[in-house]
Amino acid sequence: PEGEVIDSDDVSIKVICRVRPLNASEERAGSKFVAKFPSDESISIGGKVYIFDKVLKPNVTQEQVYNEVARPIVKDVLSGYNGTIFAYGQTSSGKTHTMEGVLDDGDKRGIIPRIVGDIFTYIYNMDENLEFHIKVAYFEIYMDKIRDLLDVSKTNLSVHEDKNRVPYVKGATERFVSSPEEVMEVIDEGKANRHVAVTNMNEHSSRSHSVFLINVKQENVESQKKLSGKLYLVDLAGSEKVSKTGAEGAVLDEAKNINKSLSALGNVISALADGNKTHIPYRDSKMTRILQESLGGNARTTVVICSSPASYNESETKSTLQFGQRAK
Ligand code: ADP
Ligand code: MG
Repeated sequence: PEGEVIDSDDVSIKVICRVRPLNASEERAGSKFVAKFPSDESISIGGKVYIFDKVLKPNVTQEQVYNEVARPIVKDVLSGYNGTIFAYGQTSSGKTHTMEGVLDDGDKRGIIPRIVGDIFTYIYNMDENLEFHIKVAYFEIYMDKIRDLLDVSKTNLSVHEDKNRVPYVKGATERFVSSPEEVMEVIDEGKANRHVAVTNMNEHSSRSHSVFLINVKQENVESQKKLSGKLYLVDLAGSEKVSKTGAEGAVLDEAKNINKSLSALGNVISALADGNKTHIPYRDSKMTRILQESLGGNARTTVVICSSPASYNESETKSTLQFGQRAK
């Protein structure tokens, strides 16, 4: 909880940079590949070097990304820890490709379907004294409003605190699931609902944060020992700046809102990374409030910084990488 003393040794924030390949339209436009990789932990753009826990180059597979980014956290969640994985970056930098990929295509599956598969494989191979209850929730945060993607009538959910003062989204639909297929059905349902209310899905998804929550509870029926781990998987809104001259009205309001929520997230992560023991500003946005218990403290947090290698995006990419550096 806010204000609690946190031992900085316990704070585990990993920042991984993933660089996608140049895409066809960048190639057609004559954009150059400007990212350089001085080592496995660094990337250099325009002469400036940025250092991360790991830099994943354009040729890495979805499986390698999963192994670096998510596999260790999945283990921890199954041991009763909480965790969060974020994808941060400008629109088209590969956030959704990283988090979801192509959900039903073996090699192209992103982190989420692989996590789900691994959790159930683990459970199926577990000692029969263990009883598992897995539930998922799926919502998006747009203009600081929380919309339930599993029940479109819930358009403005609020954040409450439980008796231990742990914040949670009150009234969010939770679905119990007992196979990877069931989880995929829930995700499909949520994505279909997300489409319904909007005219342009690409624009909408770049302006809202999507949050998929997997909650794993287990009980040993012999010893009665209980464990509970929550994993938040967050595909953030695009981090790009809107052009100062072009934007007005609703678009400008959206941009300001996104900016505010991403900087609130950056402030929390950098306070945690600095080992700040007195004040972590969780309360500055709905997202950081919701994630409070799964960010910092004993939780495992990984930020995937998604970037384009193209000269055309150089200045946006630099601010993206700079955001990632603040978490180090
Ligand atoms: P974002 O969610 O950040 O807006 P997307 O994940 O939708 O971006 O990526 C934009 C496009 O680039 C998509 O067509 C996606 O399939 C492709 N893409 C992104 N990252 C990669 C990658 N590492 N390898 C191949 N294609 C990618
Ligand atoms: Mg996306």
